[in-house]
Amino acid sequence: VNEVTIIEPRDTDAFRSRIRTWLRTNLVVEPRPVDFRERWERTRAWQQKLSAAGWVALSYPVEYGGQGLGVVEEAILSEELARAGAPPMLPLGHLGRPLLTHGTDAQRQRYLRKLLSAEEIWCQGFSEPTAGSDLASLRTRATKVEGGYVITGQKMWTSYGVFADMALVLARTGEVEERHRGISAFLVPLTLPGITVRPIVLANGDEEFAEVFLDDVVVGDDSLLGEIGQGWEIAMTTIGYERGAVDTGYQIVFAGFVNELARELSATSRVDDSYVLRELGKAITLVEVMGLQCLRAVGDRASGGAPGPEASIDKLLMTTVEQQLLATALEISGSVTDPLTTKWFDRYLYGRAASIYGGSSQIQKNILATRMLGLPRSRP
Ligand SMILES: Cc1cc2nc3c(=O)[nH]c(=O)nc-3n(C[C@H](O)[C@H](O)[C@H](O)COP(=O)(O)OP(=O)(O)OC[C@H]3O[C@@H](n4cnc5c(N)ncnc54)[C@H](O)[C@@H]3O)c2cc1C
Repeated sequence: VNEVTIIEPRDTDAFRSRIRTWLRTNLVVEPRPVDFRERWERTRAWQQKLSAAGWVALSYPVEYGGQGLGVVEEAILSEELARAGAPPMLPLGHLGRPLLTHGTDAQRQRYLRKLLSAEEIWCQGFSEPTAGSDLASLRTRATKVEGGYVITGQKMWTSYGVFADMALVLARTGEVEERHRGISAFLVPLTLPGITVRPIVLANGDEEFAEVFLDDVVVGDDSLLGEIGQGWEIAMTTIGYERGAVDTGYQIVFAGFVNELARELSATSRVDDSYVLRELGKAITLVEVMGLQCLRAVGDRASGGAPGPEASIDKLLMTTVEQQLLATALEISGSVTDPLTTKWFDRYLYGRAASIYGGSSQIQKNILATRMLGLPRSRP
């Protein structure tokens, strides 16, 4: 018999209505800026406003800037923000989890509140030019010196690297042959001498990520997160929360896309086209499935524990929904010169990245096959 955790019922209706009241007076819905930097500044300012009002980091402890609530409240907040048409929150909250789980009290006090409120921007320095899916082969090295470490290497595809103040950097402190056992994690200010950040432009023109070069960067002993050799465990904590974001608001945003598309098509002659109707129907079904999965994930997480390999199901499903929905939008909205097509094209392009970031879809399937279904690993 599986152990069942009973979740105490809470007054979530009161919580929901408190958010709605706050949003009515504090949210001004404006058109999404085309320029990426403008979008970034707006998102950051919004996050700071939410944080000042106590709506950020709901499930983090109060002493580190959180609200001491749970994932259920987080899911409700996410839903209400999406319903109200609020800008998305910065997708960086998962970087607080390794600090909370593995940091010393001094590290948590120094960094968590500022990370969660977007006063300081953090980025994730894991991937390298030759270490993405095979992260355990990373080559950035941290060498012990008196009072600290010297870090040298190159990080790649670092989201928000151009705006970031701090990076969570994985570096090798052991031998290459030790693979994941020889990796440690460091908290690195990006203002230190020896650091160069170069933006990389995405297919849709956004400068969302960067290359980060570290040339003999000196950090103190207090930059080490956790123990020497604990970097892999720290990376898995981080990635687990990144993949299993349990974002109920995401589903509402996508349902909104489908409605928007249906409304736009209803003004054209294509509305009676059976092909168009069938494709729209498929999109609606996908979004509904995603909603159910989000609810299931909220239930699982509310029972306690960090996200494990099952977070790969959430990641795969979100990727499938996003890519199929936007491909459908492009396909049924008309020719390449159609204004409807142009409108969806930017989102479509960004959606292509969903099957790569946070670990590619093939890697998620490998995780599900080996760790959830117990299938054997393939031999090289
Ligand atoms: C928008 C975006 C944001 C990102 N942000 C960050 C960030 O902030 N920080 C960070 O560290 N990284 C970030 N990344 C990098 C991301 O984690 C890597 O791109 C990803 O892990 C894939 O690694 P790779 O690009 O080196 O591709 P590769 O690992 O070279 O993979 C190439 C192809 O081979 C497939 N493949 C590889 N190994 C296997 C296998 N064993 N079985 C089956 N197929 C396999 C992959 O699925 C992929 O299709 C970001 C990427 C994107 C696109």
